Order: sequence, then C-alpha cells, then structure tokens
Amino acid sequence: MSSALLKALGLDATNAGTYLGNGEWSTASAGVITPVNPTTGESIAQVHATTEADYETVVARAQEAFKVWRTTPAPRRGEAVRLCGEALRANKDALGSLVALEMGKSKPEGDGEVQEMIDIADFAVGQSRMLYGYTMHSERPGHRMYEQYQPLGLVGIISAFNFPVAVWAWNSFLAAICGDICIWKPSNKTPLTAIASMRICNEALRDAGFPDIFFLINDAGTALSEKLVEDRRIPLISFTGSTQVGRTVNEKVARRLGRCLLELGGNNAIILDETADLKLAVPGIVFGAVGTAGQRCTTTRRLIVHESIYDNVLATLKKAYKQVEGKIGDPTDAANLMGPLNSDSAVQQFLASIEKAKASGGTVETGGTRIDRPGNFVLPAIVTGLKNSDEVVQHETFAPILYVMKYSTLDEAIDMQNGVPQGLSSSIFTQNLKAAERFLSAAGSDCGIANVNIGTSGAEIGGAFGGEKDTGGGRESGSDAWKVYMRRQTNTINYSDSLPLAQGIKFDL
Ligand code: NAD
Repeated sequence: MSSALLKALGLDATNAGTYLGNGEWSTASAGVITPVNPTTGESIAQVHATTEADYETVVARAQEAFKVWRTTPAPRRGEAVRLCGEALRANKDALGSLVALEMGKSKPEGDGEVQEMIDIADFAVGQSRMLYGYTMHSERPGHRMYEQYQPLGLVGIISAFNFPVAVWAWNSFLAAICGDICIWKPSNKTPLTAIASMRICNEALRDAGFPDIFFLINDAGTALSEKLVEDRRIPLISFTGSTQVGRTVNEKVARRLGRCLLELGGNNAIILDETADLKLAVPGIVFGAVGTAGQRCTTTRRLIVHESIYDNVLATLKKAYKQVEGKIGDPTDAANLMGPLNSDSAVQQFLASIEKAKASGGTVETGGTRIDRPGNFVLPAIVTGLKNSDEVVQHETFAPILYVMKYSTLDEAIDMQNGVPQGLSSSIFTQNLKAAERFLSAAGSDCGIANVNIGTSGAEIGGAFGGEKDTGGGRESGSDAWKVYMRRQTNTINYSDSLPLAQGIKFDL
C-alpha cells in the first residue's frame, strides 16, 4: 500500500530532497535521511540531504526569483497560490494518507491537515487584494503621508514533525502573496510529505507559467539548518519546533538583527468550573489530550477542575479513555482514533515522564505504558495528585499525558493556568458569563489563544495563531499575521511650493 501511495505522489524508494528551481531536483547528496513508519518501525523510503553547493544554488536562485516576484502584482501572486490550493484539493486524499503514514496521525487528522493548507490558500488569495497600510494626515500643509507594505525577501521556514505540511502552507502561502520567496527545511522525520507537497504545488505553478517561489532543502543533521538560520541573505526565519531549539535559533537570528517568527512548545490547560457543561467538555478534553497522540503544540496537558465536580469528571474521563484504548492502531485506518507516537525516543520520553510523575507523588489513573506490539504505541495517561508547580507538570512532554488537578476559587484556577513557562492555548468550560469574561480579561489567561466552551486544540486558520512566553511570541496564519512577511515603509510626499520642517523647526539659509 505504501509504495502505491508514494508512486501516486511522484515519490520513489530513493528521492532527491533538494528542489533547485527550474523544475530541477538535485542528484547530489550530503547523506541519506530515512523516515520511519511509526506504526511498524520500518523505513518508508530514502531522501538525499542537501549539499552545501546545492544550498548556495538554492539561495542564489531564490534571490533572482525575488527580483521578479516582488514586482508581480499582489493579486497575480494570489492567483499562483489559488492554483496551489486547487492542486492540493485534487491530491488531498493521497497527501493526507502520506501524512498519516509518515507522521503517524490518524487519517482524518492527516486529511484535516491538508484541508488547512487548502483553507490558508483560500485565505491568502483574498488577502492578496488587502495588503493595506494606513494613510495619515500630515501636520504640514501640502503634504501627504501614508504607509505601505513591501515584500521582505527570502523567508526560511523550519518546521516541526507534528504538522509536517500545514505549517509550511501557513507560512509560504502568505509569504508568497506578500512577494517573498520561501526556502523550506522540513523536519528530518517527515521529509516525504514535504517533497510531495512541493511537487504538487510547484508543478501547478510551472504548468501555469509562474516562476519558482518555493524551494526545498533537507538536512540529515543540523549543520545546514544552522547555516540557514545564520544566513544574512534571509531576512526572516520562521521556526516551528521545541522551545529548546527555538531559543538558540532566536539568539542566532537576533545577533544578525534578522527577523524571527517563533512557534514553540505549549503546556495548555482547560479549566472546568462548577457550571461546566460536561457534554461539551468531556469530548473537548479527550480530543485535546489524546488527539494526534498528544503531539500537538495545542494538546491539552493540564485539566484544572473545580473541587465540587472533580470526582465525577475523573470517573467520566477514565471511562472515555477506556473507549479510546479500543481504537488505538494503524493511523491510516480511519476507524482508529489514535495512532502511534512518532518515534521510539518519544515513547522513552513518555515513559520517563510517567516515572517522574510517580516519583513526585502522582497517581497514574489510567494508561501510561507502552503497548506490546510493533511501532511506537502507548496507552494515553491520566495522572492525578500532582501540584501545578511540580517540575514534570511544568514541562511539555510531547505525548498523551493529562495532569488533572483541583481548584476551589477562579483566581486560583487562573493562576494555575498561567503558572507555567509556556503561553500557547487555554480554555474554560463554564456557563457563568462573569467567569468567562474574567478568564478573557486582562487579568485572565496570559496565552495567545483563549477559548470558552471549546478545547485548547483545533484552531481555525482565520485567527492569528501563536503564543506568549516560552511559546515564542510569533503569530501565523489569519488576522494580520501577513504583516511579518513584509517590510513597513512610511512615505511623506510634499506637493507644495515650500519646505516646512516637522515640529515647526526653522532652518533658514
Ligand atoms: P524540534 O525542535 O526537535 O525540531 C523542529 C525543527 O528544527 C526540525 O525541522 C528540526 O530538524 C530543526 N532543528 C533541529 N535542530 C536545529 C538547529 N540546531 N538549528 C535549526 N534547526 C534545527 O521539534 P519537533 O520535535 O520537530 O516538534 C515538536 C515541538 O514543536 C513541540 O515542542 C511542539 O510544541 C512544537 N510545535 C509548536 C507549534 C506552534 O505553532 N507553536 C506547532 C507545532 C509544533
């Protein structure tokens, strides 16, 4: 099944990992990357990593492409992205299956990820006619002031394994309509989905006569990625990944005074107050905690429950987890709700956090073990009895572990929700208007995403996506996130016959 799927997407047993532009994929190799099917532990295919010489070719061609693309009218750039969206629609089923195969998320989630690419393409097409700047009234007579947004240049996109294709689309489709050229370095755990996405989009662009705007490089280790981060020819680095790596990327880009868009780890909580509608809350919690096997940046990792409903909520959740346990398996089978963790090292981190939780006095209420079968399957865990301040609770373990804790006052719950280094997504389930508004107020959640009566994960593309504190502060996708891909310029035009200075300054010659 996997070789037929690879073939349908133009992939082979061995694949070039570098798109050089002009329809050329490099035959050179700086080593081999072997993505592994997390369901079986077997390799899927091989990918050649990018050489330094090819990297230089990519940057040089991207710079040339920028000269053309920056003067292409923005709505015409939108037309290019529209064609990419159409091509992705035609390939949604196959690409969604490859995401499930290579990353290990369920088939509906794999398809959903491709749908996000299509949605952001549609959004970007509309945005291409709305790259608005303000006009201002000048304090000087006969003067006009306005601001405009100009293309920025080359954008380096470094993406994480868990959203192997959507993150690229969020960045590159907006960057494209902004007049930029993108160089993508995907996770070395998921290079095949990246190559397939590039083939689909670049072939659609070439067929319609558009220039190359999307380039691809692959790195077997980290040396080439670091070169990209340090490269002064690339004014913006968009990095999605762990806080640990993101911090070093940010330091390096800051040293060269480049721009960084950071989308880093989360440690997201749901508060259930005493009025919470459990018919809504329980599915929201379970999807948030075990969906994508706990490998979403927005995964629900902490549940903060009012003491009056705590016992009932815990019992209900344990029952729901038992139902999920019966639907853990091959993610390409649409009947399964949860697939494997992406790698054996992720399983080891899951088990280590469970041991740490126990050593800190926690009780594993359900799950917490590896399933005895090939691949990286685990039973999702619920852990009680820990404090929010416990080290293991403060840390993002990228796996399905839900820490359930009690509270008695809303102030206490909000303090717990905010009392972690990360600040990505948060939510409250309540039917109390005052509690909802307190949670959304300036003294409420400190996260980039704050929801009422929906869970922490499953964001729509229309809003700006990202988080505060150790999540990095970046915003991608909807709202005005496009502005990070452009440079802002203020223009003042004098159409009078004199040269009055601002602030009334006199300088008579
Ligand atoms: P990771 O930090 O291990 O890797 C991310 C990317 O960085 C990969 O492409 C990797 O190859 C590259 N990389 C590794 N070392 C590098 C270096 N020294 N210089 C430059 N690049 C380097 O993260 P991961 O395991 O792939 O992804 C999981 C993490 O990503 C989690 O923490 C998750 O919360 C986070 N994430 C955040 C968001 C968000 O939008 N906030 C979205 C998805 C994932």
